Amino acid sequence: MNTITSSVIKPRIRGFICITAHPTGCAAHVQEQIDYTKSQPKIEGAPKKVLVIGASTGYGLASRITAAFGGGAATLGVYFEKTPEGGKTATAGYYNSKAFEAKAKDEGLYAKSINGDAYSDAIKEEVIEIIKKDLGQVDLIVYSLASPKRVHPKTGTVHSSVLKPIGATFTAKTLDTDKDIVKDVTIEPATPEDVKETTAVMGGEDWLMWIEALKKADVLAPGVVTVAYSYIGPSVTWPIYRDGTIGKAKKDLEETAEVIANVLAHKNGRAFVSINKALVTQASSAIPVVPLYISLLYKVMKKQGTHEGCIEQINRLFAKQLYNSNKPVLDTEGRIRIDDYEMEAAVQNEVLNLWTQVTTENLHDISDVAGYHSEFLKLFGFGIDGIDYEAPVSVDG
Ligand code: NAD
Repeated sequence: MNTITSSVIKPRIRGFICITAHPTGCAAHVQEQIDYTKSQPKIEGAPKKVLVIGASTGYGLASRITAAFGGGAATLGVYFEKTPEGGKTATAGYYNSKAFEAKAKDEGLYAKSINGDAYSDAIKEEVIEIIKKDLGQVDLIVYSLASPKRVHPKTGTVHSSVLKPIGATFTAKTLDTDKDIVKDVTIEPATPEDVKETTAVMGGEDWLMWIEALKKADVLAPGVVTVAYSYIGPSVTWPIYRDGTIGKAKKDLEETAEVIANVLAHKNGRAFVSINKALVTQASSAIPVVPLYISLLYKVMKKQGTHEGCIEQINRLFAKQLYNSNKPVLDTEGRIRIDDYEMEAAVQNEVLNLWTQVTTENLHDISDVAGYHSEFLKLFGFGIDGIDYEAPVSVDG
């Protein structure tokens, strides 16, 4: 039986995660992104039937909002979120998705969500059944999963991803986000097994499995597009990111785009990897070193007027690269680069200069650590203007 429990909900932060989420705050965060999308020109030639895998937070949620409110698409979202139980709040993505669906339906847009393990065969089958019944076909598939684990659907093995350097111990500055202390972190190198495990979770195999399953079920529209997200970033993060276990997995994901392009050839389909900007999300806050880099990056990009969040990034991806009669501009490795503003020399030189200087003492002056914290809280629906956080709310959302 479902009981409605109302209470005052406050953030409870445990390291890089907040174990509570605020339903009204999450809805307001979604509304902000919808408002931004609607303030932008309509995206011409936008896809009309969109599947977003990893649709409830971060880049996937922004993709779903852009497709629906920027292009008028019917959206089917897949995610893995905790539902409210025993008076405990759900996870933020559950409230985000509930709010998104309500707003989409208000505008007469089809929106359905599936809460379950996207890596499993069962969820793939469920999605395909819904596409067949409700949409017929899909013309865009966004692959935006970030997960620490994957149960392999064929072997049942539980794979765990780790964030480790490869080949040598890595010591670098990092931010203790609980205490706002800049300190050194030392991370031991990965074993070959760690690399395999991380690639099994965050590499391209599951993306390919999705596309093959959709193809087999004949639910791909002519000219179908699929896009997955990746990250490169600056050299200070390379030992832990690009050259580390996660970077190897991302390379595998990037290489899978070529394989997928061949799978889609019969429909004149295309597969892209978009390299996105470093942003505060639940996934990125778990990576050592990255929150400090983000705090410095935000400071510099806000000052230069080029700062973007997930919704601005994805709007640009759709409007300037994938649709509006544009042909995506690819780098030498065949990837779309919406990290272009982040990687500008003027931005990177200043960030790296600050990187050498940053200490606990000057953290609040030379970095946007305050912006980092407020963005982090926002992910869980906290710290949003206009929300009465002293008022009891139903955890059912
Ligand atoms: P996020 O944590 O905000 O979102 C992850 C999504 O995956 C959520 O919707 C979650 O519910 C879903 N998910 C996780 N495990 C699942 C499972 N087993 N089944 C179904 N859904 C599951 O992360 P994000 O930062 O938006 O990352 C999305 C993608 O963007 C990732 O590939 C990430 O590497 C990439 N990216 C992120 C950044 C960044 O700075 N945040 C930068 C560039 C690229």
